[in-house]
Formats: sequence, C-alpha cells, structure tokens
Amino acid sequence: MDGEEILALYEWAPGTCFRCARTGIDSTLVEVLHPKTSPPQPIRACRACLLTLEGERRLTAQRKGEPYTPGGVRPAAGDELDPPCSEPTSWG
Ligand SMILES: [Zn+2]
Repeated sequence: MDGEEILALYEWAPGTCFRCARTGIDSTLVEVLHPKTSPPQPIRACRACLLTLEGERRLTAQRKGEPYTPGGVRPAAGDELDPPCSEPTSWG
C-alpha cells in the first residue's frame, strides 16, 4: 500500500495541522481532546504529517510484532466532536 492509498482511507477538509502548523491545507481528524473546562478540541494532521504518523505506527507495530493496519490514525470509535450523551444509560 503506497502513500496515496493510505491517504485515501481518510476524509480530508481544509484545516490546520497540529504538527507542522500549516493552515488552510487539506487535513484530517486524528484525535479529539476533551479538556475539562472547554469544548472538545479537534486535532488535525496534513497529508505529509499523516503519512509520518502512519510510518511511526508501522514501526511501532513491527517492533511489537503486531500486524500493522493503515488507516488507524483517527479518533477512537464514538470519539467525535459532539459532546458525549449525558443521559444516564439504562441497561434495563
Ligand atoms: Zn502537517
């Protein structure tokens, strides 16, 4: 899988990269921070930095002897920009 194929796994929109601080460039959401006292903070990375992050993931996986799957640099499932549902969950 080459870089273009990896990049195609992500959704891109203009934004600011948290690593190289360039603004108004294609970026993708890689993480959402949840500060206690302010709204959730989206963390975005540009294409070049995303490929760097993917490369680091691949190296880490190799070191641990784990399989590397491209496309994993993104918020955990359910970790979106909307605040989490505050209603108590009823399991019956
Ligand atoms: Zn960048």
